[in-house]
Amino acid sequence: MKLVDPKKTIEVIQKQDFSFRKRFGQNFLIDMHVLEKIMDAAAVTRDDHVLEIGPGIGTMTEALAERAGYVTAVEIDGDLIPILRENLKGYENVDIIHGDILKVDINKLVEEKNGGRPIKVVANLPYYITTPIIMELLEKRVPMISATVMVQKEVAARMMSAPGTKDYGALSLAVQYYCRPYYAATVPPNCFMPRPNVDSAVIRLDRYDTPPVSVRNERLMFDLIRAAFEQRRKTLVNAINGSGRLAITKEQAAEAIARCGFDPMVRGEALTLEQFAALADALA
Ligand code: SAM
Repeated sequence: MKLVDPKKTIEVIQKQDFSFRKRFGQNFLIDMHVLEKIMDAAAVTRDDHVLEIGPGIGTMTEALAERAGYVTAVEIDGDLIPILRENLKGYENVDIIHGDILKVDINKLVEEKNGGRPIKVVANLPYYITTPIIMELLEKRVPMISATVMVQKEVAARMMSAPGTKDYGALSLAVQYYCRPYYAATVPPNCFMPRPNVDSAVIRLDRYDTPPVSVRNERLMFDLIRAAFEQRRKTLVNAINGSGRLAITKEQAAEAIARCGFDPMVRGEALTLEQFAALADALA
């Protein structure tokens, strides 16, 4: 019986006397169809080295080990490490690492485990740190073909959203600068044990070789984006001027916005990625 079977998950949890830790975002997958959807979306083959973040009791790890060349799985909860080792002892292509993914040097891990060649990330992410994990993968430029991740549905909407919508923000722009996002599936709470309070979604982010827009100073562009959305109800001029992270005067901001041909009263939430890049170039 596979680990994804609810009866098997219960058996493992009871046998090992495991207690769920809410603070680690532990909602284990117990739905075979959803597991298959994740595997289809991730399109893992024997040529792939997979990094799994938060393997839990090994439900996805088991499915990944049957498809991938190698799986490296990083789990924070020490109580799960012996359970993972026991559940996955039949697979020689799995390495379990006990650690906090936000403290692991992922680039170094990819270098050590896969000679620096791009990996595929597959994860049912702990919801309390979804955005920091995604930002870490993107901003640290982890060599990565794709990241297929289960996230809260609302976070998936933020990753996919376009200017002028309520979900549009710094996460949308960061994801869309580095990756092309595909929405793979909506997943209801009853597919997990214990059940989360919200719907979830599977999303795949395909890393671009080259970002879709070019910008001279990437850092400045992302500082402008953060400034714009930290105070999203303000006009862009005032948001830039009021931001502690930018040493740009109101006059300089207004002049650059005019030079780009934007409305002087424009808000950041109306600007596309290309327009943020143009503004960064005007201010560079
Ligand atoms: N992959 C399993 C599944 O699908 O059933 C478990 C998914 S559960 C949503 C999230 C997992 O991430 C838990 O096992 C949790 O302990 C682990 N986790 C939480 N924070 C973590 C961190 N900072 N680093 C590594 N793993 C973490």
